Order: sequence, then structure tokens, then C-alpha cells
Amino acid sequence: MTSSPKLQARRDLLKRGAAAAGGLATLGLSTTVQAAPIKWDHETDLVCVGSGAAACAAAVTAVGQGAKVILVEKMPLPGGTTGKSGGVTWIPNNPFLKARGIQDEKADCLRYLARYAFPREYTPNSPTLGLTPGDYKLIEAFYDNGSVMVEHMAKLGALNFREFKMWFVDTYAPDYADHLPENKVPRGRALEPSVGASSAGGGKSLASQMEQWLTARGTPILLEHRVTRVIKEGERVVGIEADHNGKRVRIKARKGVVFGTGGYAHNTELIGQHQPGIYGACAMPGSTGDFIPIAATAGARMGALGTAWRTQVVLEEALENRAVGLGAFVLPGDSMIVVNKYGQRICNEKINYNDRTNTHFVFDTQRKEYPNQFQFMIFDGRSLDAFGGAFPIPADKRASRFMIEGATLAELSANIATRLEKLKDKTAGFTLTPNFAERLAETVSRFNGYARAGKDPEFDRGVHDYDKDWQALFSPVRKGSTQPANPMPNVTMHPLDENGPFYAFILAPGALDTNGGPAINEKAQVLDGAGKPIPGLYGAGNCVASPARGAYYGAGGTIGIALTFGYIAALHATGARV
Ligand SMILES: Cc1cc2nc3c(=O)[nH]c(=O)nc-3n(C[C@H](O)[C@H](O)[C@H](O)COP(=O)(O)OP(=O)(O)OC[C@H]3O[C@@H](n4cnc5c(N)ncnc54)[C@H](O)[C@@H]3O)c2cc1C
Repeated sequence: MTSSPKLQARRDLLKRGAAAAGGLATLGLSTTVQAAPIKWDHETDLVCVGSGAAACAAAVTAVGQGAKVILVEKMPLPGGTTGKSGGVTWIPNNPFLKARGIQDEKADCLRYLARYAFPREYTPNSPTLGLTPGDYKLIEAFYDNGSVMVEHMAKLGALNFREFKMWFVDTYAPDYADHLPENKVPRGRALEPSVGASSAGGGKSLASQMEQWLTARGTPILLEHRVTRVIKEGERVVGIEADHNGKRVRIKARKGVVFGTGGYAHNTELIGQHQPGIYGACAMPGSTGDFIPIAATAGARMGALGTAWRTQVVLEEALENRAVGLGAFVLPGDSMIVVNKYGQRICNEKINYNDRTNTHFVFDTQRKEYPNQFQFMIFDGRSLDAFGGAFPIPADKRASRFMIEGATLAELSANIATRLEKLKDKTAGFTLTPNFAERLAETVSRFNGYARAGKDPEFDRGVHDYDKDWQALFSPVRKGSTQPANPMPNVTMHPLDENGPFYAFILAPGALDTNGGPAINEKAQVLDGAGKPIPGLYGAGNCVASPARGAYYGAGGTIGIALTFGYIAALHATGARV
């Protein structure tokens, strides 16, 4: 997962994120059950709402089936968060694995999907692995259709993939839970677009390849059309209503409507209701959760609403604008630790960003507080020099407004406390514990012992391949750095220089985007309150309750699912077998 180069237009859109953030009341979204005959402005087979991975995959698939499609996007530029992403796409049992003779067996793979996404329910000997039949069918549909979707896109000439390799060792990326015993194929499921990805523009390439393919086949892409309602005849969704610069546009959809409208990371009302404490997201500003009220008033039931593709964000950057440029994905540095308000380490700092961010939400039952709500990434001059430029460590420390510095750990602690005091109106007065400096000194000294020994008995940092390989990818040594290569037995750990100086960032919980919303079935049909499909209404990607729930299976875990369920939705809507 990497970021594409930021085009000016996209920067402008991000800036507008704060303005776009708002509540449902301001969005004016609902459903219409028409009594009088409707005057349609356009008529087509399938309307696809959005222009990211999910909506484009649905549109391409439907056109491939010979259907007429109209793509409707509310922003002035197409691509959504997909267009900003690295475009890495996680597909189990994919054609490249098969070509290399690697068996990604269904039974094994489903165990990995179920074990990671549903750890409470997972029961290996149950026919549904302990999941509800609905949840089981969703992960099964992902396994059954992901690889077929990749082949289908290539056959249509709409989107070609190659294996995602970690350039520095020319090896396949380890999954985000590579060490779970249920994961029998821990490398090789991550793919990337075969063109454009090496320039870190993978997501842009992925979205624009599909857009160009659609445009070349005469599929209209209506920009600045914000869908506000679905229109029903009886139980069936037969079209949508959109707002185009204040003008109402109605589109009839003979075969159905597929929503791929992204999550709700930039809707502060929904965030406040369902996942308070998310301070920022690197999703594009279009992620305002429009599908939630639209689907709810169409009779949909909600699935999991409290889940997200999680990442930490730099608190002060997010307080300026919750639409941040990047998350603190893979924390760079070897002489680096993360501590809470008590100066204690919280987890393996090299664990994947999604799981690491969950530590912010741990509740202390005795103290009745969230001790990890804000966390402090602490590092020394070595990490600053060697890994500067790997976000959030700046290449030039003068350019970083949010980095806190101190000649000693005591001075750093005092400076963090002063910074928190300045932010107190926006952080509900969050403070460090009074003896933070002493506790931090103890923690650093303990960690330094672990680094010299090459073993982290508290959190197993650096034990698994994920930690080592992803650190290497995200923490390349800065050109011009004078730091020696890490000579310690475990390359993810190096003692912090006890003579200082020391540096810190305040980290807060954030998201790439949320991934909860209306519930779907294995055909990507949106379900009603009784669990029955609403005819003509489909959803895929971050706008619906994710089949993966809170699990990030591997690099590309979000786009793989979005493309696959967009593909499934279009096949079902056009009457093909799924
Ligand atoms: C920096 C970064 C890097 C990432 N890298 C990766 C990666 O490499 N691999 C990976 O799997 N994931 C990655 N992600 C996450 C990934 O980008 C998203 O999870 C995924 O692209 C979402 O796809 P989607 O189709 O569901 O939604 P989006 O791509 O967000 O598309 C939704 C579209 O719907 C439009 N829309 C919303 N409401 C309406 C409405 N009412 N009417 C009309 N249009 C509407 C939006 O404007 C938007 O264009 C990354 C994210 C970021 C921020």
C-alpha cells in the first residue's frame, strides 16, 4: 500500500474535504417511492454510482455482458479514494499463484479469512467455520470470484495485473497476518496494475484504465452528479435521482443500481455516532457515507457500521484538516518506540497499521479512560537521519511543524506535555501521567536491552516476516545518511541513543476509509430489514458492510474485495450466473 503522487487537483479536492465533511442533515439524502409517472432524463440498463474500484468494476463487467451502463460520480474528477491509493489488489488463489504452481486451497484460505475477520466466532470444525451462514457465504464468494474477476478483467482488456513484489528483495509481499497458522499461502496474493504501479501511481492507473475502457465503449461518466435518492416501483429499485449543480437528474435503470460510493470517513455525524475517536482519514473527500441514508430509507438493514480500514494519523495534522494526505502506515525507524500516556509501550510497533490502530480503543476498566487514545512515537537522531522522508519522519526536520524535540527524555516529555496543553480544547484535556518522563526512561532502557539481545519478549517485534519486509519497504535508508546499517541481531530494533536528542509525534486513530454500511449478500444485493434482497439494489466496496469486517488480510485487502463484489453485482444484475 503506497501513495500516488499528489496531483494539484487532488490536493485541492483534499483541502475541500473539511468543507465536504458534514452531517446527513446537510446532505439531503433519501428514497422516493413514486406515485405519479416519472419523467426520466436518461435510461439505461445499469446505473453505477461512484467511480472507484467497486463502481468501475461493476460498470466494466456489465458492459462486458452487453449491457448499457451510466456511471455517476459526484466529484469533478473520477477515481475516488481508489485513484489516490497504491492500487494493490489482494486476491486469493489468483492466476499468478496458479501459474507458479502454488495451491491456495479453498478450505485453507477460508480458514484464514474467517480466523482473522471473526476471531471470536471462528470454529475450525464447524461447516461455516463458526460464522453465520451469511458471513460465511460472503467470504466464500470472495474466494470463488476474486481470481475469476482478475481473469475476466484481463480478457476484456479493461484491467491487467501483475504480482506485487517488494522491490528491494524481489520477493512477494507477506500478508498482514502472515504468521497465523491458518495462513497457508502467506505471500503472493497481492497484485498490482501491470502499468503505472512502479511510479507509485497504482491506484490512479487502476481507476483510469477502467474509465478509459468504459469511455472507449461509449459509456457515459456523469461527473458532478450527486446521487441523492433511489427510486422504487413497488419493492424494486428502478432508478436514481441525482443533483447536478442544483438541477435534478433522474436516470432509469432497467436492471438495477450498483452503489460503490466509498465509506463515511469524512461525515463527522456518522463518525461521531458509530466510531467516535477517529480524528482523520486519508480517503478522498467524497467519502461522506451517502449510501447509508439512501439505503436505509429504501428499507436496507445495516451490517457492521463500526469497522474501518484503520491507520494512525499525526494528530496535529488531522486537527488542521481531517482529510489528511497520508496515514502513518508502516512506522519507520529501528531506534523508535511508541508509548501511551503512562510512558508504556502498547504493542509491536511494526505490526500492520490496521491492527495497530485498534490499540487506541482499549478501555481501562479501573481508571475509566482510554490510556492509548493518543500515542507518542519516540525516536532518536539515528532514526531521524537514517529514515528521514519516510512518513511521518521528515527528510528535513525544519520542515516538520508537528515534530516535538528534546535534548533529553525529560525535556522531550516536558515538551510533549506543553504541546498537549496547547491542544487541550480539541483533545478533551488529554494529559500525560505526572511521572511520564521517568516511566518513558525506564521503557527506553528496557527496549534498548531488547534491541541489543534481538528479542522483544513483550511484543515479539521483528519476529515475523511482515515486520521485517514491510519495514524495509517503508523505511529505505535516506540518501546522504551517515548512519551505519543496523548491526543488531533483529533489524527492526536498534537502541535509542541515551544521550539524545529525542523526537516525538503525537499519533491519533484514523482510517484509510470506513468499511461499514448496508448489509449485502453473496450476490452483492443489499438486504432489507428481514434479510431479504431489495430487488435492483446492489452495493460493493467501502459503502457496504465489509465481508472482511475489521481484518486487513494483506496489501490490497480493500481493493480486492471492492473489485470482486462490484464484478459479482454486475453479473447478477445482468442475469449472468454468479
Ligand atoms: C493513500 C492511500 C493508499 C491506499 N492504498 C491502497 C492499496 O494499495 N490497496 C488497497 O486495497 N487499498 C488501498 N487504499 C484504500 C483504498 O483506496 C480504498 O479502500 C478503495 O479504493 C475504496 O474503493 P471504493 O470503490 O469502495 O470507493 P472509492 O474509490 O472511494 O470511490 C467512491 C466514489 O464514490 C463517489 N461518491 C460518493 N457518494 C456519491 C454520490 N452520492 N453520488 C455519486 N458519487 C458518489 C466518491 O466521490 C468516490 O469517487 C489506500 C487508501 C489511501 C488513502
